[in-house]
Amino acid sequence: MNQTADMIIIGAGIHGVSLAFHLAKRGFKPLVIERNTLACAATGRSSGLVRMHYDLEPESRLAWESFQYFRDWENRVGGDCGFTRTGFIQLVPEGFEAQLKGNIAMHQRIGIPSLLIDAADVRRLAPAFETGDIGLAAYEPESGYADPSASTSALMTAARQAGARLLQGANVTAIRVEAGRVVGVSSSEGEFDAPVVVNAAGPWAAGVAQMVGLDLPITTWRHDTMFIQRPWELRLGHPTVIDNAHSMYFRPETGGLTLVGLEDNNPLGESPDGYTDRAQPGFVERAIERICLRIPIMERAALHSAHGGYDGITPDQRAVLGQAGPQGFYLQCGFSGTGFKIAPAVGACMAELIVDGRASTVDISPFDPQRFEQGKLLKGEHDYGDIWH
Ligand SMILES: Cc1cc2nc3c(=O)[nH]c(=O)nc-3n(C[C@H](O)[C@H](O)[C@H](O)COP(=O)(O)OP(=O)(O)OC[C@H]3O[C@@H](n4cnc5c(N)ncnc54)[C@H](O)[C@@H]3O)c2cc1C
Repeated sequence: MNQTADMIIIGAGIHGVSLAFHLAKRGFKPLVIERNTLACAATGRSSGLVRMHYDLEPESRLAWESFQYFRDWENRVGGDCGFTRTGFIQLVPEGFEAQLKGNIAMHQRIGIPSLLIDAADVRRLAPAFETGDIGLAAYEPESGYADPSASTSALMTAARQAGARLLQGANVTAIRVEAGRVVGVSSSEGEFDAPVVVNAAGPWAAGVAQMVGLDLPITTWRHDTMFIQRPWELRLGHPTVIDNAHSMYFRPETGGLTLVGLEDNNPLGESPDGYTDRAQPGFVERAIERICLRIPIMERAALHSAHGGYDGITPDQRAVLGQAGPQGFYLQCGFSGTGFKIAPAVGACMAELIVDGRASTVDISPFDPQRFEQGKLLKGEHDYGDIWH
């Protein structure tokens, strides 16, 4: 006889697990099916930045709702998510000051602690930074980074305690549909029945959608990151920064390390099963050059390691959240390189959508999958341009 569950979630990254947590807290018994291990894909390679600075209001709202979890994790979830408050600075190239001000005003309207600062303020917050090119910047004093693997593990532990199940090492190979609605999945470990199936398969999401004949405009985005050992003078660390002027972001990491990622040269459309234990040739050299432009003393840093990861990316670089295809089939994917920090709230919203028919924590209707065929791609009111390329 097939095993049954209230809902089946395909994928045990931060998103599948966040959804399982919220469904289980509401009294349901979801089953998460993972072909490999918990947090083995995009989530395990995530840089873990936790900030609210987006140019699209619904994303800032999701990040702000999620932030309530990160800063109060022990009470809301239990265990540890490794949240480290470092303060967050958003730097923009010359000419984007109006957009920056517009976005900060939007964040403040939501209630997010976000301040407009200038180069002198940046120097006070980060004396080692080169600030000659900085006009204005945004500062979020509460923001920082968290540990994506630890967060996923803590959410899954809490979900299991509330009645969810996790099956690892089980590859979903088909989604069974009868009379226009999903009835379960077939996997390498057997058949499972449920009236709801959620696609939380990260960079594999387009393939999983194909199992119900759904064409999703999600491709893969590869992204490398580098860790360097900071010189002694910088042992106390520095804020977390998105530096659009140098198409880069960086944050401190434990053990006196700094993590650096670049916004350009992130290949699209590769196989999500590509090799990620090493960064692409040339990445480390480019990353070192960029970090030294912003923090010249990093010339004395030492390379620690570098690796890569894949996420699913959509044409407007925003998530796909909602129902599509056969009845009972839901999408929670396409996070386009920024999905970690919004996962706690996205899971709550998706649980509301599935159970109540509508999300109430944050209105996620802008992320509806139909927007692509309707030509209604999402765009920030004060956007900084297409930053992942
Ligand atoms: C290098 C890198 C850095 C990033 N940095 C940040 C950051 O600083 N801040 C931020 O907010 N976001 C960041 N992101 C984005 C963020 O990590 C992702 O958006 C998020 O982790 C996606 O989570 P997920 O659960 O959707 O996908 P994943 O973590 O990829 O999980 C999907 C899971 O589905 C499983 N799966 C797939 N197909 C099947 C199947 N057929 N059967 C069973 N299981 C299946 C996979 O094995 C995988 O474990 C980064 C991403 C990368 C790659």
